[in-house]
This record gives sequence, C-alpha cells and structure tokens, in this order.
Amino acid sequence: MEKKGKVLMQKYELGRFLGQGNFAKVYHARNLTTGQSVAIKVIDKEKVLKVGMIEQTKREISVMRMVKHPNVLQLYEVMASKTNIYFVMEYARGGELFSKLAKGRLKEDVARKCFQQLISAVDFCHRRGVYHRDLKPENLLLDEDGTLKVSDFGLSALAETKHQDGLLHTSCGTPAYVAPEVLNRRGYDGAKADIWSCGVILFVLLAGYLPFHDSNLIAMYQKISRAEYSFPNWFSNDVRKLLSRILDPNPNARISIGKIMENRWFKRGFNSRHMRRGKTESKELGMQDGIAVSAPCEVIDSSLEVNSKKEVIKPTNLNAFDIISLSSGLDLSGLFAESDSKEDIKFTSPHPASTIVDKLEEIAGNLSLTVKKGGGVMKLERSSKGRMRELSIDAEIFEFTPSFHLVEMRKSCGDTFEYLEMLKQHVRPALSDIVWAWAS
Ligand code: AMP
Repeated sequence: MEKKGKVLMQKYELGRFLGQGNFAKVYHARNLTTGQSVAIKVIDKEKVLKVGMIEQTKREISVMRMVKHPNVLQLYEVMASKTNIYFVMEYARGGELFSKLAKGRLKEDVARKCFQQLISAVDFCHRRGVYHRDLKPENLLLDEDGTLKVSDFGLSALAETKHQDGLLHTSCGTPAYVAPEVLNRRGYDGAKADIWSCGVILFVLLAGYLPFHDSNLIAMYQKISRAEYSFPNWFSNDVRKLLSRILDPNPNARISIGKIMENRWFKRGFNSRHMRRGKTESKELGMQDGIAVSAPCEVIDSSLEVNSKKEVIKPTNLNAFDIISLSSGLDLSGLFAESDSKEDIKFTSPHPASTIVDKLEEIAGNLSLTVKKGGGVMKLERSSKGRMRELSIDAEIFEFTPSFHLVEMRKSCGDTFEYLEMLKQHVRPALSDIVWAWAS
C-alpha cells in the first residue's frame, strides 16, 4: 500500500485509498501546483510482467489517452518509478454508480439518464473503433455532479474467458454482464457484445438485481446463452420492448447503438448535445491532436521492422509508446529487458490462436514430441525411452486481440542443455514464420 502524504514525481500528493482493481490500487491525489483532485492508479510493474500484461497496459494507456468524451474517464498522464506505473486520471468524486443501488433500485427517469450517458460514451468509442468488452458496474463511476464516467476502456483482453481449446486464459470475474457469444467463444463483434452488457446494466439499474443469476456458474452460463430472464412487474412496456431487443442472444439480430438512440424510451429527455457526433466534431471534444483515432489499439503497423536476430521486441502499438514517452520522458520498453530467463521463449504473433496451435503441433511432430492440451497450457512432451530422457515444454497463448497473441514457452521438465539446443536448432527457426516479434 502506498503511503498517504507521499509525493509522486514532485507533483502529486497521495491521499486516501479509493479502490482495488485486478492489478492495481487506486488512490485520491492532489496536484501540488494546481490543487486539482485526481485519481492515481498504481500498477505494480512486477505483477504486470508476471502475467504478460505489458501489451495490455500499453493498450489501456493508448486508448484512454485518445478517447475524450464527457462520459469517459479521462487519463491525464502516465508516470513510472522503478517499481510502479502510475496512471493519473480524472477523479470521479461520486464513486461507483452501483453503490447507489445499495439504497435500492433507481427510478425509471434516473436509470434512463445513466443509460443515456452510458450509450453516449459507448457510441463515441465504437465510432472510433474502440470497444470496451468489459462493461460492468465497477467501471461505471460518477463525478461530483452525478455525471456518469465509464472507466477502463482498453482493458478488454483482461476480461477474456478461456477459449474452447483451453488455451487462452486471462482473469475472469463474474460472467453476469458478458454477452452469450463471448462466453461461447464463437468469435464476436465487440460492438454487439458491449450493447449486451449495457442492456444488463440497464436491467440492474431498474430492477436492483441481475437478469441472469444462479449460484451455479454453469446454470448461469445457460441462462445467459438462452437469454432466460423475466421482467419485474414494475418495468414499463417501453423499457421491456427495448430490453428484449438488447438482450437478444443472437448478436446479428441484436439492436444496434444507432437504433437504441432512435428508441422512444431512450430518447425521452435526451440532451441533443449528446446526440451522435460525426468525425468532424472530434476536435470539439478534445481528441488528442495528431493522433489517429480509429482502431488505435488493434492496428499493427506492418511498416515496423521486426528484428528477430537481435531478439528485440518491437512495440505492438506505436501510439502507445509515443504517448508514454511524450507524457513523462519514460520508455516502458525497459520492461521487456528484465522479463525472462534465457530458458523462456516469448513472442508475439499476428496470427489467430488456431494457426499458432497448428504450428506448435507441427514442431512437436517434427521433434517426436506428443502434444497434450489442458488447464490453459499446451504441453509438448517426450517420456523417457531407451537413451532418451524425459522432456516437457509448456506453451501458453495469451490473447490481446483475436488476431494478436503473446506466446510463452518454457521447460517444465528435462535436461536444460538439450532443451536450449532444441530451441536454437529447431523451435525458434520453425516458429519464425508466425512470429511478429521475439520478446525473449
Ligand atoms: P479499477 O482498477 O479501475 O477497476 O479501479 C478500482 C476501483 O477504484 C473502482 O472500482 C473505483 O471504486 C475506484 N476508482 C477507480 N478509478 C477511480 C477514479 N478515477 N475516481 C474515483 N474512484 C476510482
């Protein structure tokens, strides 16, 4: 825990603890020059390294810096010390929206106002190719005027659940807000998945409880997949109609953001200043000058030179690196240097998981290793036979986007010298056609 009263970078005085996320603690802080209140998210560099979240952190930075909207929590700057990364963010004085629900469900007008602001923020981001994919109560904050602020845009891959092939894994909380197609891993449209989550949020605001709930996780998954829920008797007809269009398990049939904004119930009392804005108005909303606003986090710049011989990782997102260096003269690329021992292989790949798995299976076949999959790990193994000693290599694939992955390989058993020779002579050369950049 950071010390209250501690001064960061001679600029911010840390105040009280505000909350805890998956990998970070959030504190109130005061800008010593301007007196402005801010929230500072403190991320432990070690933890980020351990779980292979460097890309994720960079992505969050780039996305938050690019999206400026009255209902999206703003990131002011990024700083780092030896041990921590600090995100200096807009302070949401009103805390979490859902703490309001502790006092009971919201009146229809109040719920609608929150929903309108949520949809405005989501629409704004979607139009710029940014999908949240993890919309849930903890990400909905309020400022002192009760204005909704959506936080954590860009943290999407964090919420990814396990692939059916058991290979992709990241932390996974409650699926209560997650769209059926995301749970079923059928490959999904980020926009439609966000719309579903907005529907669940609206339901909870109006009902005071979740539409899909079961103490048994499997039963809960089933309810979500079939969109099995019922409306409490106080829901108006108009809101029932809208929710049935949003909570449609078929993403193709699910209502679009545009149509939600045309909906009669939604439009009531909606401030037209918040109506859909065209690209030309992005300046008015304070988009970062000179930074591309479309699909900022998923674009892989093919002009980047990949130097696999030197084994130097190139940033997956130039914007993120630019922004980091611009904001504090800090280059996070140093994070990579200390990341792994020589025995580990780590690389990024612009190929889908299935291609990576195929490639690893092919390599295993050529080396007479058998492949086992389970528990989120792919094992390339040889049991001891004659003069051959037992050897086992674990491979894990982490998804950042459906077409961009981080792969980690390490020896779990066997002779280190033989393993290192195998990597050098066979594995690395064979992987070269799917590797975008080597991290180690
Ligand atoms: P996060 O890691 O972003 O999920 O944040 C963890 C918790 O800290 C949130 O659920 C909020 O309660 C609190 N929090 C995060 N960001 C802010 C902020 N900008 N202003 C006030 N509270 C915040």
